[in-house]
Amino acid sequence: MSFRYQQSSSALPEDRASLQIFLAQVQKRLQAFAARGLHLDMTRGKPSPEQLALAAPLLERSSAIGFRTVDGTDCRNYGGLPGIPEMRAIFANILGVPTDHVVAAGNSSLELMHGLVTAAMLNGVGSGMPAWSRCGEIRFLCPAPGYDRHFRICQEFGIDMVPVPMTDNGPDMDVVERLVADDESIKGMWCVPKYSNPTGAVYAPSVVQRLAAMHTAAADFRLFWDNAYALHHLTDEMVEIENILECCAASGHPNRPFVFTSTSKITLPGAGVAAFASSSDNLRWWMERYGVRTIGPDKLNQLRHADFLESAGHLHALMESHRRILAPKFAAVQAVFDHELAPYGIARWTRPRGGYFITLDLLSGGAQRTVDIAAEAGIVLTPAGATHPYGRDPDDRIIRIAPSYPTNEEVAQAAEGVALCVLVAVVERRLLSPEMTA
Ligand code: PMP
Repeated sequence: MSFRYQQSSSALPEDRASLQIFLAQVQKRLQAFAARGLHLDMTRGKPSPEQLALAAPLLERSSAIGFRTVDGTDCRNYGGLPGIPEMRAIFANILGVPTDHVVAAGNSSLELMHGLVTAAMLNGVGSGMPAWSRCGEIRFLCPAPGYDRHFRICQEFGIDMVPVPMTDNGPDMDVVERLVADDESIKGMWCVPKYSNPTGAVYAPSVVQRLAAMHTAAADFRLFWDNAYALHHLTDEMVEIENILECCAASGHPNRPFVFTSTSKITLPGAGVAAFASSSDNLRWWMERYGVRTIGPDKLNQLRHADFLESAGHLHALMESHRRILAPKFAAVQAVFDHELAPYGIARWTRPRGGYFITLDLLSGGAQRTVDIAAEAGIVLTPAGATHPYGRDPDDRIIRIAPSYPTNEEVAQAAEGVALCVLVAVVERRLLSPEMTA
């Protein structure tokens, strides 16, 4: 793995006695930390109440904007399966695709992903292709570390997950190309191409082009392109990625990508709008399936979203407000880790340019123990292993840190607590290592 990690340099004490003294000191600090009786939650990438408040006008203006779309549709009624034109235009703009290649749906892109997998399992994708459920064993490539809820969808359907190593530039393409070229059972691949969950990796242009162009043994292979963090910058650099629909079309694979995004972390995660973009063939196929599930999405919510996001060039100003709230929290975690962990050479952590997570890598293991000790000290972390298929991190190294929800003060406290737990877990392990016990 090679992410934008902060590398730490020097090392822990080398002899057993000094290491034991060091451990006792850290344990004392951790006990004092636990005695504060804090309850800190760093589990999920949830926007904070302060961020949710940014969307207040969305709800306040809701009665003033009425119920008609630009084309006169009455949003109160049934119908309008592809979503209202205003909201499709906003998503087309976010994703850089033509409006007729994107549909606006319900409140969750994850639900759409689940829906697309369900449809593929039941009906098959692409003309004349069999239902995935009739194809025997089905596999998905899962870049790891990755997003646990993607992995849960695979587990739900009994889809075999094949981990692929992640780099700072996206998945290791040599591995991906080799796997998909030979194995017809590989039908899909999860991708979070920008500010990836949890590493913050951004897919390099060459990676996107190779994903678009690669030969796949399965004719009905699909890229599940989850662009959840398209606008979620943490720095001045507004990172852009290659347009997957265009790259795939140019490579002769127009039906390969299923593209997703949502306003969950732009407006309200519980009450946002999700989008699906793809080729005309795929959209036609999906609309037929989707129309069996629902008579139409919540168009009133789409209408108030369009009104809110269109007003005063709101989208980018809004994301800037999110950044102003989020960036200091990320900086607080970095500062504490720099201070508490960097001197010991036992861990490294990402400095993401966007997204919602910091990945903490305990170079020689101890992630599970760290999460357990943290729970005892009042800090709930994402379960160790969650970033890997089947919840199994083979080296027990990766911890996902989600700094968005707690207050700035709580984030700094939580980071300090996590750093102390890391030190305890790693030093305990080292004391048990053969060279120490010999
Ligand atoms: N994709 C990724 C990569 C995410 O991190 C999240 C939220 N943590 C989601 C999807 C969920 O999106 P939604 O709220 O639109 O279902």
